[in-house]
Amino acid sequence: MPENHLKFHSANGKRQLLIIEDEMINRELLRVILSEQYELLFAEDGNTGLRKIKENKDTLSLVLLDLNLPDMHGLDVLKQIKSEEQYSRLPVIVMTAEKEAEVESLTYGAIDFIPKPYPQPKVILARILRTIELSEDRDIIRWTERDQLTGVYNKEYFYRYAAQYDVYHKDTETDAMGIDINHFHMLNERYGRAYGDEVLIKVGEHLREMVNKNGGIVCRKEADTFLIYCAHRTDYSVILKAASKGFTEDHRVRLRMGVYSNVDKTIDIERRFDRAKSAADTVKNQFTKTIAIYDNSLHEAELYAEQLLEDFPKAVAEKQFVVYFQPKFDIRPDAPILSSAEALVRWKHPQLGMVSPGVFIPLFEKNGLIRRLDNYVWKETAAKIAEWKQTLKRSIPVSVNVSRIDIYDDDLVEFLEGLVKENQLDPKELILEITESAYTEDSAQMIRKVEELQQKGFRIEMDDFGSGYSSLNMISTLPIDAIKLDMQFIRNAFREKGNTRLLEVVISLAESLEVPTIAEGVETAEQMLALKGMGCDFVQGYYFSKPLPGNEFEEFVTGKK
Ligand code: C2E
Ligand code: CA
Ligand code: CA
Repeated sequence: MPENHLKFHSANGKRQLLIIEDEMINRELLRVILSEQYELLFAEDGNTGLRKIKENKDTLSLVLLDLNLPDMHGLDVLKQIKSEEQYSRLPVIVMTAEKEAEVESLTYGAIDFIPKPYPQPKVILARILRTIELSEDRDIIRWTERDQLTGVYNKEYFYRYAAQYDVYHKDTETDAMGIDINHFHMLNERYGRAYGDEVLIKVGEHLREMVNKNGGIVCRKEADTFLIYCAHRTDYSVILKAASKGFTEDHRVRLRMGVYSNVDKTIDIERRFDRAKSAADTVKNQFTKTIAIYDNSLHEAELYAEQLLEDFPKAVAEKQFVVYFQPKFDIRPDAPILSSAEALVRWKHPQLGMVSPGVFIPLFEKNGLIRRLDNYVWKETAAKIAEWKQTLKRSIPVSVNVSRIDIYDDDLVEFLEGLVKENQLDPKELILEITESAYTEDSAQMIRKVEELQQKGFRIEMDDFGSGYSSLNMISTLPIDAIKLDMQFIRNAFREKGNTRLLEVVISLAESLEVPTIAEGVETAEQMLALKGMGCDFVQGYYFSKPLPGNEFEEFVTGKK
């Protein structure tokens, strides 16, 4: 066991005991024996004892109960404790001079007894400690309290102790903080899991040192996220510095931190840390700003997000989600030819107006709603492709966006195959766009699934290439049929004093790997022509057309044929 095996229980690190005993001399004796190791509460009769149990139920570790009380029999106190669900698990040690009563009290749920006259202090101390440990062990059968890798608390225990912390610090202002490691999955991928673990261990170690010194509690919530709960302070950089201590020379490791300062203690504990996290996310992967505080604008965003989540079921039922289509053109011939389209969802919200997918997609990805939405979009899209084959007398393949979360869906392949069958499509006509970052996060499983889709005949386009960290030589081994160059990538190349060198290199490398490239967000003829000059194969963007509702897309196609 680590040296701080003693669990966090009270403000001063001592467990709390209640002694129900009417005789002053006995109370004083116990005070002398126990007060160094325990925080003591006293009651001189049964009713006071029961009241104090009620008041301190979240923090009490043990009750020492005298059976001989002025107002009621100790056994009745015991029965009441055991019959009350909220504290029936509280261990009780009975103190008595009657041998008979010992046995009886055990049958009523006492855990142990201490005879009177009292045995030696060390016997009393040992019995109390053993009883507390037994009952705490019983509590932790389900979880061990610490994260195996880093030795800080795990999140289940952390949340419980944070609640306890509140009980002991009722009138203290408290901060909730979250610390993340930028690009952590990439660190793992690039430098190996052992290195990733080493980083986590160091961060955990330094944070533990920090809270041991300054107070507070710390846990690893998941992967690379650490949470801290401590008395309110203002110099947050000290904490981030402490966490980064081992890495001043190692530029691969950069931490970010979000703070929900002076928390509102009426809201859920987990929610307080969600707020810290949403603050931290505002400085994700930034170089100059590494600490962010939860503020009013984040609060408004939170409320807005809540409303969107709440409105989702109704929006689906009322078909407020509408699929738009944006054409992609083959620019290799002298005159560009329409080759396919991308389906992009829009939310026509009755009160909020048009809500951008840039806002609701990330939100739905976080909350698991994305699968329902995407399934809906895919369904609408498959039906449109089939419809256009009839009305336009030609096949226009359409790509749909597949979220990382969708790929984990066990029914994904089956669902897509069903759509293709129902609408009598060739799987090639329903193209799947999968974002680059999906490949880098959990490669093995992801790649297997995508390969399966490819084998079923679906074409795969890697979306947002250049925004993540896959390298081009990875591309040759991944299951993909085309690369969509990230809009920002194009934008950077073409902005004033921009540099198209990188773009050229990427396109020509993709060419040598025989993977076609699609440029997104192309807005001007100059950009289109420059890309064509570099060997880019397809273009999508406002230069040709904005995303259009189905009927307008149809007009666009017939007008441009
Ligand atoms: P994306 O897949 O990278 O889609 C391209 C985005 O660029 C679209 O934004 C499109 O309207 C916009 N765009 C296209 N051409 C131009 C241009 O020339 N200039 C500029 N400035 N923008 C252009 P949109 O529709 O707002 O979608 C944003 C993101 O939301 C998409 O990025 C995609 O990641 C996601 N998304 C959209 N629809 C769906 C969907 O049905 N399912 C899922 N999972 N994600 C979707
Ligand atoms: Ca896309
Ligand atoms: Ca994209």
